Amino acid sequence: MAQFDLCNQSEVKRLLEKYDLSPKKGYGQNFLINTNVPYRIAEESYEIACRGGSERHGVLEIGPGVGALTQYLCDTYEKVVAVEIDRGLIPLLSEVFEDADNLTVVNTDFMELDLAAFLEEHFGAIIKDGGTVSVCANLPYYITTPVLMKLLEAFPYNAPVPLAGITVMVQLEVARRLCASAGSADYGAISAAIALRGEAVKLFDVSAGNFLPPPKVASAVVGIIPHGGIREIYGSCPEDDGECEKFARDVSEFIRLAFGQRRKTLLNAVGERYSKAAVTGALESLGIRADIRGEKLSAAQFCEIVGKLKGI
Ligand code: SAM
Repeated sequence: MAQFDLCNQSEVKRLLEKYDLSPKKGYGQNFLINTNVPYRIAEESYEIACRGGSERHGVLEIGPGVGALTQYLCDTYEKVVAVEIDRGLIPLLSEVFEDADNLTVVNTDFMELDLAAFLEEHFGAIIKDGGTVSVCANLPYYITTPVLMKLLEAFPYNAPVPLAGITVMVQLEVARRLCASAGSADYGAISAAIALRGEAVKLFDVSAGNFLPPPKVASAVVGIIPHGGIREIYGSCPEDDGECEKFARDVSEFIRLAFGQRRKTLLNAVGERYSKAAVTGALESLGIRADIRGEKLSAAQFCEIVGKLKGI
């Protein structure tokens, strides 16, 4: 690996040319060409992984590209599994990482993965031994939200998401949304969905000049740290795990409805699914104004409202 300078523009171009490739817009291929950036992403990711005091750590990378971030993940983590959709990059990665014995590259679409089964298959031994699994990626921007929603929704809500952390580079504008609190201008469905499962923190900004080709937008790296599960933000959640899961899915759907029609009041936005009388009653009993909009409500408040609506 040492013989490749994976953040050097000429080296990246040479490697791509050798394998008859060029950056594919359709796959969101903007490769990092400043060593400091992937180095720092890997460090931040590993720091989050180590917070709980475990000794063994694995990481799932989504979209290794030519390996700019992968190389530092391999230096840091015990085990790295990198999922790459672009078949053309697989032989390139095999050459570059020929000597990396802690890396597995899987040629597949992340969106098609059965995530729980995949983590068990690749990280089962580390997990059994009390270790952690993290996700780290310079995400393809065309599917940032679906990827994050998949990571948040693939696991039961009654327990923490079984990931030590999710450290991702996204568009700056999206980063702001991920970390926004209720009532702020950037707050949206994804902010509330994340708050149901954990806390998002903006770690650092990355300008467009750090990529080949440079994207049209600025970027930022965000760390998402899961909390203890939905009961941590809503203590009255049903004790039965099945009921708790159903409740959490209802809250997620309610959030989607609430933000589906942004300029509408909550009452109108969820009107197709819940009667106005019931929602008005729930809001009133919680001391929330009847003309409130979704963007003013925290994840905990969404839970309280759905709790009232479902008689929980
Ligand atoms: N990690 C590299 C870097 O930082 O230079 C590349 C990042 S590039 C922004 C996104 C990568 O994700 C590309 O390699 C792209 O082919 C890959 N990708 C896009 N969609 C994907 C998907 N659905 N599943 C897996 N990988 C995907």
